[in-house]
This record gives sequence, structure tokens and C-alpha cells, in this order.
Amino acid sequence: MKHLKFDNQFVEQLPADGITDTYPRQVLGACFSWVKPKQMQAPAMVSYSKEAAVLLDLTEKDCQSELFTQIFSGNQQMEGMQPYATSYGGHQFGNWAGQLGDGRAINLGEIINKRGERWAVQLKGAGPTPYSRTADGLAVLRSSVREFLCSEAMYHLGVPTTRALSLITTGEQVVRDVMYDGNPALEPGAVVCRLAPSFTRFGHFQYYAQQNVELLKKFVDYTIKTDFPQLPEPNKETYIKWFEEVCTATCDMVVEWVRVGFVHGVMNTDNMSILGLTIDYGPYGWLEPYDPNWTPNTTDKQHHRYAFGQQAQMAHWNLYQLANAIQPLIEDVERLEKVLNDYADRYDKKWLLMMTQKLGFSNVKLEEDTDLIKQLLTFFGQYETDMTLFFRRLANVSNDGDRLDINAAIKQLSPAFYSDAMPGEMKKKLEAWLEVYRQRRQQDPITAEQRTVLMNKINPKYVLRNYLAQQAIDKSEQGDHSRVNELLEVLRKPYDEQPEKEHLNQKRPEWAKQRVGCSMLSCSS
Ligand code: AMP
Ligand code: MG
Repeated sequence: MKHLKFDNQFVEQLPADGITDTYPRQVLGACFSWVKPKQMQAPAMVSYSKEAAVLLDLTEKDCQSELFTQIFSGNQQMEGMQPYATSYGGHQFGNWAGQLGDGRAINLGEIINKRGERWAVQLKGAGPTPYSRTADGLAVLRSSVREFLCSEAMYHLGVPTTRALSLITTGEQVVRDVMYDGNPALEPGAVVCRLAPSFTRFGHFQYYAQQNVELLKKFVDYTIKTDFPQLPEPNKETYIKWFEEVCTATCDMVVEWVRVGFVHGVMNTDNMSILGLTIDYGPYGWLEPYDPNWTPNTTDKQHHRYAFGQQAQMAHWNLYQLANAIQPLIEDVERLEKVLNDYADRYDKKWLLMMTQKLGFSNVKLEEDTDLIKQLLTFFGQYETDMTLFFRRLANVSNDGDRLDINAAIKQLSPAFYSDAMPGEMKKKLEAWLEVYRQRRQQDPITAEQRTVLMNKINPKYVLRNYLAQQAIDKSEQGDHSRVNELLEVLRKPYDEQPEKEHLNQKRPEWAKQRVGCSMLSCSS
């Protein structure tokens, strides 16, 4: 592992906090504080991602070494590493929360790999920092399994995301009150090593803008030069172009979430990546019955602010907050507003294109397809349907002949429905929809084979269903990590048929409906 080359631009170019102690405090006039990862008692490897390892030019042998476990649990530092935690703020559930910062994320540095790519390396759960407030800076195994598996699952699905290199238990016990109901318990601690070109969040800009315009400008210019090298030298025009890119990337990320049925759960501005990457896997979830109002986050169960169907709007709201923060550098509210308005148009277009592709069309018919999709989503709202199974199986509904065989179609689709027997009225609705769909398919120029290929590339077969993650966690907490590794393996190829893994492609069982950790999650992690 000696070959790893560090080039720590964040700490080189940005102002450091003068205090090197980690006691909790407000940090002003600086972008980061120097910190040291905590020494963990007995780090042990649970799992690593071989694809993420390639990003750092690490071999599987490297990942299996004791040295790797020591380094990526935070117990040992390599030459070139300069651990630090960054300061940021954010709006949480719509309210300005002031300073937040890396309370339990410790950056080890930035690696330039053989291909010249920059990868920031970050440990989550590696001990307290000045930003830990009253918390411990640690993470538990349950939430670390969720972050580790979901990061890599999202990557393989083609959704922009931060990556997860490794999941290591620390040998320490951590106290958590899972449902915040006065029942604290000890849980195994763990550290996930995350990778991203940059971990910068909207909240960084917000927090620096609150302090002074010089700090804001320094950070914006740094971000443009380092994370958006395709843009010209920073000036007012470049700032607007940059903001456009942030809006575009954010918009495209949310369309992808909707495509695969992902609900982030905590879209606070401190959890929004400037690169449009899915970041901070906390109380996220995957749609079970299709329901735009569903959120896995129990903290949000009253308002459903971050529910599945709200995500596009919430991302937009967050972009408004970012625009407010950077406005002093641009001093052109109208231009910023125009960019923000474009977000909504772009989202609608991208969403429609994505949905028509899910239906297997090679082109978009604006009105006709919008109608067809709305009707389908209305049907889902009336009859509990698993979106993932439905779309995947829709590719198998035959279009042969000039009449729809409704019984054959229902047979094909039935594993996606949560009830066993479809009432006559629902059957009629589905039949009417399938008939219109059949005709629309017939008008489409591509062949049936081409359509199946198209559909199976966009409609995943395997996603990290909530209950599957929880089952893997239950076993891992008993010391058996086989389920984590099995899921990691299956989710590497989410669009492939994997006949021996059919059991991982089933709708949520009844027992998982009310089980904590499956469909109900808190922010406790
Ligand atoms: P989150 O809701 O996970 O995005 O976290 C919001 C803020 O709380 C961030 O500043 C985190 O760093 C901080 N935080 C969350 N959990 C912990 C913890 N166990 N220890 C220290 N800080 C934490
Ligand atoms: Mg966060």
C-alpha cells in the first residue's frame, strides 16, 4: 500500500482552525480542524468493495491485510495522511441549524490514483471532532452495514453516490437509544471508509457565507478549481455556470432516486453533495408498496417532508438555500432565479424520459405518455404494488397477437402485488391500462427483443430492500457477516438475472412491515 500518493488540497489551500484539541466548540474563520482518529480496541474486517478498492489502486490482497484493517479503522496512519474534520452548517428539516460539521467523519486525505483521479478518503465513526457537539463521534454496526451496502448498491445501479471501500468493526461497544424512547443499549461499533472526489456539501457554503464573504469566496474558488476543473477561472460568469452544474447534477441524481425507488430520508442541506452524489446514508429506505408519501424516517413521520414524492421539490428548496448563500458573490438575483427555474423544467423532462424508458419506449410522446404514466401511478396508489417487481416483470408481459391476454399478464405481474387476489374492479383498471400500454408499445419502432434489453437495463431486478439489509444486520450483530457479503455480491449486478438469488427479489414479507430497522428507521446511528 506504500504506493498511495496523497495530495491534500483541502488542507493545503484552505484556512485551518488554530486549535488542535477536539473539545466541542464553534469553529469560525476556518474550513477544517486537525483531528486524530480514535484508537480502536480490536478492529476486524467485515467486508470491502473490490470495485472501490480499484479506485485507490488497491488489490484484494491489500484489502485482506492486517495493515489495511489498521489503516481504515483509523488505528494507523500512512505517510501522506493528514487527518482533519471540516466545518459546515445546514438547514435541518427547513430550519437553519448553525454549525454542524464533520462530527464523526474524519478525512484522511486525498489520493491521486494511477488514472490521475482524485479520491478523498474519509472514515465515518472514527471518533470525536470539534464538531461532535454532545455526541460520541462513533457509528454502530447496524448503520454502517446500511451505509456500506447501499453506497455500493447505488453505484452498481448507476446512481451517483459516494463510495464505500470498507466496513470494519472496532471491537468497541457504543450506546444508542434506537427509537429515542428511553431504551439505550450497547451495540457493536464500526467504521466505514468512504470515498468521493469531494465530500463538500451545500452546508459548507452556507456556513462560510454566514461568516464572511472572503471565506465564502475562498471556498467557492477552491471548489471550482478542484472539483469542477472543466469550468474556466472563477469570476461572476463562472459562478453562475458552476451553480448551473450543481443544479443539473442535483436534478439528475433525484431522477435516478425515483427510477430505482430510493428515499434518502434526510435531505437537509448538510446532506446535499455539491457534486450531486447521494451522500450520508442514514434513515434511507426503498419503496415497498409504491407510495409517494412514504418516508422511512420516523423523525419525519409527522410532516413527510422528505417522502419519496417530495424529493425533487426538496432538492429544489435546498438549491434555493445554496443560491442564497452564494448570492453575495454573484449579485444577480435574476440570473440565479432563472437557473433555479430551469431546474424544474429539466426535472420534468428527465423524469418523463426516465419513466418512458422504464415502460420500454424508445421515444417520448409528451401528452400520451404523461397520461399513461399518471394512470399507472394512480393504479399503484389504489392497489399496493411493488414498483421494482412490477417494472421488471412488465418486460415479460407479452405483446404477441393483437389482443391483450389479461390473465397471462396478471399472472406475470402478480408477484408485484401485495394482495393475493385482485378484486374485479382493480382487474378492470389494470386491463384498461395494459391495453393502452400494449397499443403504445406497438407504435414504438423498436423490436420486442430490443425493448426487453432496454427495460432490463433500466429496471433493476435486485435492490437493497429494507428487510434484506436488516436481516444481514441481525446476523452481523451475532458475528456472522455472510449475509452482508452475499448482498454485496448480488447487488454488484442488479440488472442481471441471478436465478439462484431469486429469494432476494421478493416483496417485503408481512413481518417486516412494522419491524424497526426495516420500514421504520430513526436518525440514531
Ligand atoms: P446527520 O443527520 O447524520 O447528517 O448528522 C447531522 C450532524 O450530526 C452532522 O454534523 C454529524 O456529523 C453529526 N453527528 C451525527 N451523529 C453523530 C455522532 N454519533 N457523533 C458526533 N456527531 C454526530
Ligand atoms: Mg449528515
